[in-house]
Amino acid sequence: MSAWPQRFYDGAEAGELVAPYCEACDVVIWYPRSACPRCLSTELDERKLAGRGRVVSWAVVHRSQVEELQAEAPYRIGLVELEEGPRLVAWIAEGAGTGDVVAVSFRDIAGRALPVFA
Ligand SMILES: [Zn+2]
Repeated sequence: MSAWPQRFYDGAEAGELVAPYCEACDVVIWYPRSACPRCLSTELDERKLAGRGRVVSWAVVHRSQVEELQAEAPYRIGLVELEEGPRLVAWIAEGAGTGDVVAVSFRDIAGRALPVFA
């Protein structure tokens, strides 16, 4: 198993949303880190997530600070609260807005599979 966040990108490449998971707390952890934020266990597993959630907030990026994404602008980025609890910053498809229930798919963006919620 590769390390985070590469494990996240490998999952996305395979069409899966994966995140670190602490079995002791039964909690999905996002962002990835070396210890569980609740019990400090470093014995973390991983979990495939359902890929469903709700849009908390979103914005249009007109000028990206990330060089690889400048050609993609304008694009929509938002905060999605996943069913499992964590909030993930991801691409938001045209037509999805605050409060909407969304599901993930993956799109090749600047040479890498990234989650897009619609
Ligand atoms: Zn824990």
